[in-house]
Amino acid sequence: VQGVDKTYRSAGRSLAVLQQINFEVETASTIAIVGPSGSGKTTLLGLCAGLDRVSAGDIVLNGISLDALGEDERARVRNQHVGFVFQNFQLLPTLTALENVMVPLELRGERNCKATAQELLDKVGLADRGHHYPLQLSGGEQQRVSIARAFSNSPKILFADEPTGNLDADTSETVENLLFSLNRDMGTTLVLVTHDLELASKTQRIIRMKGGTVVSDTMENNVL
Ligand code: ATP
Repeated sequence: VQGVDKTYRSAGRSLAVLQQINFEVETASTIAIVGPSGSGKTTLLGLCAGLDRVSAGDIVLNGISLDALGEDERARVRNQHVGFVFQNFQLLPTLTALENVMVPLELRGERNCKATAQELLDKVGLADRGHHYPLQLSGGEQQRVSIARAFSNSPKILFADEPTGNLDADTSETVENLLFSLNRDMGTTLVLVTHDLELASKTQRIIRMKGGTVVSDTMENNVL
């Protein structure tokens, strides 16, 4: 993340949300971004994942400069390299759990999408829930489907926005264990936004934001 600013413009007004953000994330590491509501965490995560464009500066993802890319190319890089877990799951309500996981596989033109999606659901402990629609699943189950979907392209980096924000303590633990096991077993870089300081303390590094700037950047547990 190199000298990133983000200003939202709408209805003739502009709102500077991020100013001069700089940091580098090690491959296969785990990192949490914390800070008060409105400090720009979700905005930053979206920029890092290529979901939106920076106003100044650049994001370099696996050596690819996102700012240099057009919309379609950015989407392609996102599909290839990035997984994103949204706070409110963002599953498609008219598709079953299995079909939700199949969508990105089909978009990439992969073969055996159904079998692959079923394997991913097995991995998140939902082998027998594939035929359920999102509304027939608990919050924790929906979040696990969204993790299976985010993981369908075996991303090198997984961004998760408040992955446990809406879940009870037991379910949070299941989702947390799942995310950290992806890091441990597959070497997936994990970048979390969270208000949960206990979850943040389980990562190797914590970036604290306030008012659109980074106010501290600390290594936890002397891991790095
Ligand atoms: P929270 O912890 O409450 O989720 P956050 O730290 O993730 O907050 P952001 O969601 O990044 O903060 O929002 C930062 C600021 O940008 C807020 O003031 C918000 O109102 C504003 N903002 C976010 N998205 C947009 C948008 N699409 N258009 C205009 N302003 C936006």
